[in-house]
Amino acid sequence: METILILGAGPTGLGAARRLEELGHSNWRLLESSSAAGGLAASFVDDHGFTWDIGGHVQFSHYEYFDRAMVEFLGQDGWLHHERESWVWMRDRFIPYPFQNNIRRLPPADLDKCLAGLVDITRNGHVQPANFRDWILATFGQGLAEVFLLPYNFKVWAYPPELMNAVWVGERVAVTDLKRVLHNLVHARDDVSWGPNNTFQFPVRGGTGAIWRACAERLPQDRLQYNTRVMGIDLKEKTVTTADGRSFRYHYLISTIPLTELIQLTGQTQFQPAAERGLLHSSSNIFGIGLRGQPRAELAKKCWMYFPEDNCPFYRVTVFSNYSPNNVPDIRHYWSLMAEVSESPHKPVDQTRLMEQVIDGLLATRLIERREDIVSTWKYRAGHGYPTPGLQRDAALAEIIPFFESKNVYSRGRFGLWKYEVSNQDHSFMQGVEIVERLRNGCAEVTAANPNLANSKKHPWPFESWTPKNLWAANPA
Ligand SMILES: Cc1cc2nc3c(=O)[nH]c(=O)nc-3n(C[C@H](O)[C@H](O)[C@H](O)COP(=O)(O)OP(=O)(O)OC[C@H]3O[C@@H](n4cnc5c(N)ncnc54)[C@H](O)[C@@H]3O)c2cc1C
Repeated sequence: METILILGAGPTGLGAARRLEELGHSNWRLLESSSAAGGLAASFVDDHGFTWDIGGHVQFSHYEYFDRAMVEFLGQDGWLHHERESWVWMRDRFIPYPFQNNIRRLPPADLDKCLAGLVDITRNGHVQPANFRDWILATFGQGLAEVFLLPYNFKVWAYPPELMNAVWVGERVAVTDLKRVLHNLVHARDDVSWGPNNTFQFPVRGGTGAIWRACAERLPQDRLQYNTRVMGIDLKEKTVTTADGRSFRYHYLISTIPLTELIQLTGQTQFQPAAERGLLHSSSNIFGIGLRGQPRAELAKKCWMYFPEDNCPFYRVTVFSNYSPNNVPDIRHYWSLMAEVSESPHKPVDQTRLMEQVIDGLLATRLIERREDIVSTWKYRAGHGYPTPGLQRDAALAEIIPFFESKNVYSRGRFGLWKYEVSNQDHSFMQGVEIVERLRNGCAEVTAANPNLANSKKHPWPFESWTPKNLWAANPA
């Protein structure tokens, strides 16, 4: 039985470990630098008893296998189910998301501009957009781009959209249907249901991290090595060395650490230029604000809100106490907000002032009324927050990933594969499951290899494309 070493105990590494166990492949070990499982999907409880995620994590799924695993980890009763209520705050008002379907709520001058742009694009023929900015302009028109999409996307991504590709958009950005926009306008109708995540589930207790703690607890504990940072990888000798001086041999290595770090740890400096050009990322600064009292009525059912304007540093705020009452110490007396601020070389932030700027922004956007209601503040900076879909990304991946695979190293997950379009929890977990199926049973990966297919529907388990010879092994039952 070949030794399989897994780097990282986020959803991807845990998905791989769980699948190996299911298949009876006991010769694996997982190395994780931090003291607990979860990675970017971990949760924390602050000194005042408020629970925080690393940014509002909502749970939705493209996979039956993932759904079954979620029930197994937390039980049927371990989940709360929510209707997505997302809104844009701008021009001093809330506009339902998707914004473009609800522009009737804009002031007349903005509405006019957006409609003129939408009419203009119906006159243009189809042109293949060279970058994300072109795609926005071609898909939404000049007005919507200027009023919302360009300022908002810069705030989220922290990169100018002309430096990003338009390959990843797929289901992640709702495109515009002019007839629908006009219908909503004429009938004064709010159009709020769109996309794969119009309902979502969230753990009753413990935040998103509860899922991954439960997943890790089901695995043999002696194969999970926490507080174990990988410091070097010898591709020839197939060994991994750790900060505490230990050395581990592998036949296959499943790496979920950032691909840029894998390049460094293996000394493959020939990929540095491609990585610098193609593997862009932004950092995520997360601010948890625990509050006394109750949210004002307008926030009572809202899940998250987008903020395109420059009267606040954050692009998104989640009413985290609406996800679960257990995210606050006592829901009768407290509530909570979680704000996200992006950061990159194109959008630096002043760490020393950011908390104050966030609180000022919460007041400016009227999410909170009085500074004195704040009873707790919590901050987390994820150095690697979003894998930016840069223009040279796919060329870089085409050069780097096959090289590592030729050395029995499989880099998967949010920053392992660097594909934003398949980097949510469900995708990441399944990338771990699918790479194990590939190594053990020769099944072709779906999520890593074909993001559009992965995102096109809910996939049965086993995947339809897997060949009959593999089915006996793929079925966990
Ligand atoms: C702000 C934000 C909001 C998000 N919102 C959602 C959402 O709403 N819904 C959703 O489904 N997903 C969301 N995600 C994505 C979700 O967090 C990821 O899908 C998931 O965590 C990726 O899992 P992973 O295992 O690939 O990587 P990670 O979670 O990054 O795990 C990698 C692990 O590798 C470890 N590691 C790194 N270097 C080393 C080393 N040298 N040695 C040993 N270990 C190492 C790290 O400590 C980490 O535990 C969000 C992410 C962010 C940042």
